[in-house]
Amino acid sequence: MLREVLAEERLRLTEAGATPATRAALLWTAGRRLEMAHRETLVGVINATGVVIHTNLGRAPLAPAAARAAAEAAGYGNLEFDLEGGKRALRDDHLGGLIGQVTRAEAGFAVNNGAGAVLLTLAALAQGAPVIVSRGELIEIGGGFRVPDIVAQSGSALIEVGTTNRTHMGDYERAADAHPQARVILRTHPSNFRITGFTAAPALAELAAFARERGLILVEDLGGGALVDLEPFGIIGEPMVQASIAAGVDAVIFSGDKLLGGPQAGVIAGRRGAVAAAQRHPLARALRLDKLSLAALAATLRLYRAPSDPTVEIPVLRMLTQPLAAIAARAEALAGMVADALEAEIWETTGYAGGGAMPMHGLPSRALAMARHGLSSDVLARRLRTGTPSVVTRIERDRVLADLRAVADEELPALAAAIREAAG
Ligand SMILES: *Cc1c(COP(=O)(O)O)cnc(C)c1O
Repeated sequence: MLREVLAEERLRLTEAGATPATRAALLWTAGRRLEMAHRETLVGVINATGVVIHTNLGRAPLAPAAARAAAEAAGYGNLEFDLEGGKRALRDDHLGGLIGQVTRAEAGFAVNNGAGAVLLTLAALAQGAPVIVSRGELIEIGGGFRVPDIVAQSGSALIEVGTTNRTHMGDYERAADAHPQARVILRTHPSNFRITGFTAAPALAELAAFARERGLILVEDLGGGALVDLEPFGIIGEPMVQASIAAGVDAVIFSGDKLLGGPQAGVIAGRRGAVAAAQRHPLARALRLDKLSLAALAATLRLYRAPSDPTVEIPVLRMLTQPLAAIAARAEALAGMVADALEAEIWETTGYAGGGAMPMHGLPSRALAMARHGLSSDVLARRLRTGTPSVVTRIERDRVLADLRAVADEELPALAAAIREAAG
């Protein structure tokens, strides 16, 4: 490290007008490099952005019970072993019953992520036969996930029905008549965008009844997949998994780390035959869930069972459903802790659910708007990001905003210390 720093210094000194760095400065640079080289590149951050399910910040933070379960699973464990009988068992056994219980589906299964679950389900259920999709649902959710591409990759031809804004039952009927070899109807939740105005789509139950009558399999990609009704908390238009199962969808797919609030995973819930077909497909092995995520997912799902209250136990749900007064109180407390270190006032802000949920609606929030004489907002924000712990904020009207919606009460002392350090 020392040699590297000295070589750079020699090179720098060849530039016209360069003055030599002090011995102390060179040692400091080398020391810092050494420290960085031994540091993990992936570190924890305090999410002061106001976006609860923040894709760039790891989506859902795990509940303590889920993090403990993952830590426990990190060693040897009965992942594929029956402790009673002392013989081989299936890793899927840890999840099937739980997924069924919380979604009220006959069966459940989970793979590495939502996109993988959609690919696997289409490959297993359509088996290369055409897949019918409404033109209003041919979405891209980002990161290269486009419904037409996923259908193609699953080995099926895509049959588009209806129009961008309106698709009727008759459109599905005509497509099924014209393509008797079609095997699957795919319905997708548009997640991160909305078509509003003059729109129409058949009710899910109606589509399910039609699919059953024609011997077609109805697959729904829900994206987020709420298991609790979030409407009383102002989160509108996020369909519940149980409602899709009750409507008669054969296989419902949703992510583990969006509204569910667990680890990265793609859950498939539905009829026994449909789920079993996905489990048997060769892609299931390629996409299988690792033991850490499996343990965390099982523990997260357990928090949805009575008497546990998921809106208390699961961080994502707690942050989405907390009263504004709780956020405001946190802002007040933080303001008190840093008042002597920089200029700070409480602003009314808008936070977001994130993770594709409720893209059109903000959630009222509160932030500490900070400024420090002699420091630009960019520099202050950068110092916060690169401090320990790292704090990710946003800048508005030349103030650095620490939004308190996605900050836990327990994080306040560390957040205050980080702010004081950055301001110093
Ligand atoms: C997020 C999302 C996916 C992909 O899920 P990942 O877990 O991110 O792979 C697929 N479909 C929809 C509609 C989504 O919102």
